[in-house]
Amino acid sequence: MPELLIASRPPYARRPRTIWPPHRFTIHPTRGHTTLDLQDQATLNFFSSAAARPPGTWCPTADALVSADEDRVWVFGEPQGLRTEHSSVATGYGTWGADWEWAADEVGISIEVPQTAAQEEYADATLERLAWLCRHLQATLGFVVPAVRVRGWSQLRSAPILSGYIGHEDTMNGMKSGKSDPGARFPWERFLQMVTPEQPDHPTVADATTLYQFVRADERNRANPGATAVDFTPGVTVSVVRRNGRRILTMEMPD
Ligand SMILES: [Zn+2]
Repeated sequence: MPELLIASRPPYARRPRTIWPPHRFTIHPTRGHTTLDLQDQATLNFFSSAAARPPGTWCPTADALVSADEDRVWVFGEPQGLRTEHSSVATGYGTWGADWEWAADEVGISIEVPQTAAQEEYADATLERLAWLCRHLQATLGFVVPAVRVRGWSQLRSAPILSGYIGHEDTMNGMKSGKSDPGARFPWERFLQMVTPEQPDHPTVADATTLYQFVRADERNRANPGATAVDFTPGVTVSVVRRNGRRILTMEMPD
């Protein structure tokens, strides 16, 4: 079983989640300019050095990262924190922006997977760690992502949010920016088998029911800003803030 480590996530690299549970995992390759065994460290350095870049430039972090050479995975912030925040811009908007589109990060959990170049095969051990991480997060945070690939997504708020596993390249944001991410070498079929609930070691989801109740309330409040949040999960503190004229829900989960 991989070791799960916590990596720091600076405030500028995170945003409050408005949708829980996540509908999907978004897969990204690291493609840092270094060797495969150093992809994890290079990615950690890149994410934590965003403050040194000029204001207004891209300040990414993903939500999680997998190692190629050690039996390790990292979560940015901490695993429970994924309930209340997501990475700021691992996968942003498509063509139209926030009024019309979901940012891909808002509805999912983004994971960086080590790969040095688009033509490099993903190592079996890397894929197993990635699959373990996806299953572990679902079990410990209480949500279920179906083991299917989402092959294309408009990101439009008016369209349904399809659930499953998606490559950055298959989001409107990835199509707009010409991504090959995770690219042709990612073995989707084999990977999806690794994350099917039929796997004998698939963890159980204890509290998914309560959390689904939470997201239903959240979606109704989006549709009807005047609604109260009376049937949010007991113990959850919900606040509404206004930012750039938009109404944003933030939440705190009980320990
Ligand atoms: Zn990407």
